[in-house]
Amino acid sequence: MTRLISLMGNSQMLDGGAMFGNAPKALWSRWVDVDELNRMKIACRCLLAQDLDGKTVLFETGIGNFFEPKLKSRFGVNEPNHVLLDSLKEQGLTYEDIDVVVLSHLHFDHAGGLLSSWQEGKEPELLFPNAHYLVSEKHWQRACNPHPRDKASFLPFLNKMLEQSGRLHLVNATSHELLPSVAFEFTSGHTPQMMHSMVKGVVFCADLIPGKAWMHVPVSMGYDRFPELLIDEKEAFLNRHFKAKHQLFFTHDPDIAIASIAYEKGRYSTINEIKQLN
Ligand SMILES: [Zn+2]
Repeated sequence: MTRLISLMGNSQMLDGGAMFGNAPKALWSRWVDVDELNRMKIACRCLLAQDLDGKTVLFETGIGNFFEPKLKSRFGVNEPNHVLLDSLKEQGLTYEDIDVVVLSHLHFDHAGGLLSSWQEGKEPELLFPNAHYLVSEKHWQRACNPHPRDKASFLPFLNKMLEQSGRLHLVNATSHELLPSVAFEFTSGHTPQMMHSMVKGVVFCADLIPGKAWMHVPVSMGYDRFPELLIDEKEAFLNRHFKAKHQLFFTHDPDIAIASIAYEKGRYSTINEIKQLN
């Protein structure tokens, strides 16, 4: 029987203003705490599915631990270790046991965990040697030809490693033969053709709704490439999954892994919040 487990990866500290776009601090400071540099805690949570179509599947890998110390400190990655690998170890697994890695998009805080930890004088290596990597086809095109505005969010050397692995599969449909019981849907407001996986009644929100605070439909991130589109997509996404009674999986919320959707007086919120899924 399929088992879903939420796994923590490395966390980040990011600028609160950037995380809430044009929302004023007077508003968003009611939802999150910040440090003396105005930075808030951002989780990078992954979803492990065991015995899913007979495979061990990892959705997302988080930021990982590949950045050199200066960049690690810029992005507020404070753990010395590759947290996702240790979370896998707690489940009795290593990265070699993963059969499929599904990536919502290739921003470094979602795909960086594919790489080995930073070591002085050594190039990072691509981990998960036995995994097929599933990436949205149109998003792949964006990742390989980014706009100057989002270029810094991608890792060209990682894209090259994925391509050279011979195990990269580009997804351009609502299903893929490797994971017949997973349905995919796509949104483009955050980044072109970001891929949301729907597995056993749980939908991976990725950066469309990074956490509870972004359940407010008009609130978007400064990183979103097309905020008006994102807001329209978010409303349709919440409406669709509310009606279907699906649960939401949050990758960036430090406190909530999964929640159900409530809808009252024209506003969406979360109920039945679960901190960790196991
Ligand atoms: Zn992103």
